[in-house]
Amino acid sequence: MLGFEPGDDRKLADWPTLVRYYQALAGASDRMRYRELGHSTLGAPFVALVISSPQNLRRLDYYRELNARLADPRGLRTPKDATTALREAKTVVLITSGIHSNEVGGHLTPAILAYRLATDTSADTRAILDNVILWLVPSLNPDGVSIVTRWYNRTLGTPAEGTDPPELYHHYTGHDNNRDWYAFTQVETQLVVDSIHNVWHPQIVHDIHQQDTDGSRLFLPPYLDPVEPNVDPLLIDGVNALGTDMAWTLAGQGKTGIAINAVYDAWTPARAYQHYHGGVRILSEAASANLASPVDIPFDQLATRGRGFNPRERSWNFTNPWPGGRWTLRDIVTYQTDGAYALLENAARYRDRWLANFLTVEGRAVRGWKGWPYAYVIPRQHQDSGGGLATLLGILHRGQVEVRTALHPITLGAQRFAAGSYVVVLRQPYAGFAKALLEPQRYPDLRLYPGGPPLPPYDVTAQTLPLLMGVTAVPSRDSLRIGLSPPVEPPAANLTYPGFAGPDVPRIGLYRSYVAPMDEGWTRWLFDTWKVPYVSVVDSVMRAGKLRDKFDVVLLPDESPHELLDGLPKEYPAPYAGGLGADGVKALRQFVTDGGTLIALNDASRFAVEQLLLPVRNVLEGVADDEFYAPGSIFRMELDANDPIARGMPTQSIAWYESGPAFEVLDSSAVRVVGRYPAEADKVLLSGWVLHPERVAGRAALVEVKLGTGRVILFGFRPQYRGQSIATYPLLFNSLQLTAK
Ligand SMILES: [Zn+2]
Repeated sequence: MLGFEPGDDRKLADWPTLVRYYQALAGASDRMRYRELGHSTLGAPFVALVISSPQNLRRLDYYRELNARLADPRGLRTPKDATTALREAKTVVLITSGIHSNEVGGHLTPAILAYRLATDTSADTRAILDNVILWLVPSLNPDGVSIVTRWYNRTLGTPAEGTDPPELYHHYTGHDNNRDWYAFTQVETQLVVDSIHNVWHPQIVHDIHQQDTDGSRLFLPPYLDPVEPNVDPLLIDGVNALGTDMAWTLAGQGKTGIAINAVYDAWTPARAYQHYHGGVRILSEAASANLASPVDIPFDQLATRGRGFNPRERSWNFTNPWPGGRWTLRDIVTYQTDGAYALLENAARYRDRWLANFLTVEGRAVRGWKGWPYAYVIPRQHQDSGGGLATLLGILHRGQVEVRTALHPITLGAQRFAAGSYVVVLRQPYAGFAKALLEPQRYPDLRLYPGGPPLPPYDVTAQTLPLLMGVTAVPSRDSLRIGLSPPVEPPAANLTYPGFAGPDVPRIGLYRSYVAPMDEGWTRWLFDTWKVPYVSVVDSVMRAGKLRDKFDVVLLPDESPHELLDGLPKEYPAPYAGGLGADGVKALRQFVTDGGTLIALNDASRFAVEQLLLPVRNVLEGVADDEFYAPGSIFRMELDANDPIARGMPTQSIAWYESGPAFEVLDSSAVRVVGRYPAEADKVLLSGWVLHPERVAGRAALVEVKLGTGRVILFGFRPQYRGQSIATYPLLFNSLQLTAK
């Protein structure tokens, strides 16, 4: 059917071929049904299979209903209701694969797993089919399957064989598609959350990934600390037990190189929707090859950088090192398929416990956790011009959080909120989801050793949506003692900004590097969503110069100076190798001198400062992590309200800080400071983690530098971070409108 055995070296399938395979398999088996949930960003069919015994499949609606009852114990009227549901229900498992499309084992493993479940007659498989309802999403990113497969086949046998494609493998987000599981900005996330998570309430979610080539052969949970504090402890126990059980099973089959409790922490909710919805989320990370091409890794070249274990040494969480040697696509799909099967065996064997614990978790959430606020109050805004309030309420709604409105005014201490204010009571099934998103984060101060360098988080450290979206949300310790409405729908967000329609719209060039930084994709997503017209500009166009004839504004998304300048290595064919180069730098300088506006975001600001010799200094240049550190945090930022870039903004705002520069002004006649961090160091951090904030206290975060008749706007932060920092969108939108056409 595929024309090769999944796992064969150098063989990948594109998405249409895989879809036909799943259709044929489901057509031939009474153990599975094929469903199309919708369409991907680029219009490909978005597919799921539901797999169980033929008897269970005939009563799917009944089992969905039972599981929904356990998910919200408020509907269970008598203890007998609960007993019946627990006795009859099946463990619901969701297995998702292929979200990161260069992790190509994930394209094929679901095909092998589905085939095994469709055809195997062993008692183990029968037990799985009888006790489990499996939702299998064979790719969370169908577009990327085709993007990567096309590139791989095109470069086979050339020096670029096995390299990543010179474009994002998700149209807007690239690798960040896996960081969207609370913001729900992308259609793929929305489809899975709306049609599987929220309908089937899986007790177990298993997401299949790959990691670097030279670490462990497979990572399985337990995760490292820190664990986000709003996750029910019983779910962490479930993660620990299940991951360890999978590792134990695979070790019993003779597989080596399995690490648990290493590398990956459980802090951000961005990857773990189910941790806030009653289920566990099991990540697996198999070692990669070079896409579908095998690699050879001698034992002494296994990398020791991974946190929590050493791949060359035995330890309690890495009991049997892999001896090194050849690693192939077959190895990857074997580890992944057998891992997923081990998970399903556990789900079947411990059906009673998974369901009982699920009910316990939801029961606790409904009763409320000691020490949690009773509710959050979110006042209405006279004008939700940025769409922040509507977006925030939309996120809570999609996450199945009940939002009500106050029938009377609310008084909290000295604060008074009008009737009609939104109220989120933290006694409901998914209260933890709301709390994790509404409260400021206090990331623990983790160090390599006492007083030593910081231990980096796996992802970022903050997600406080009210700060990111410019919304007020006030916790109330006690019951509000007023009437509340039934749950309400969120208002619609109006996602337009003045000045981007009509004859005078600025001509915007958005630099599109072949290195494919995610921030470029997020910028495109922002522009497409907010209907900001733009043209993508590649290296050849930049290097050719005469940019002022074409554009009023050129925007460099967040990308390192080295990548901007040098681009992809010479293994890549034309036109992909090389970056902006000296000609691109010259063209940009000319563009600004001729009156254009150059906007540089985050790390790209360092490039602009260095290459255009701007009279500002990055005070963090060369500063080591133990002297300053903030790996994705929300800072306070003070704005000059009179500056056109800050038009419509409050004087107190935020900045999504993520390893960017902070500026000292060297020539105040040429540089205007638009935004700066507070002068008092202890006021800098609003949410997340910072070490030595005094390094940036009082420093400029956003400046405008005059050069010739034009200007360079330097953002030391990410004003459009992952589609979430709505509070600072106007700074970017206003910057785009500074040059008259
Ligand atoms: Zn991945």
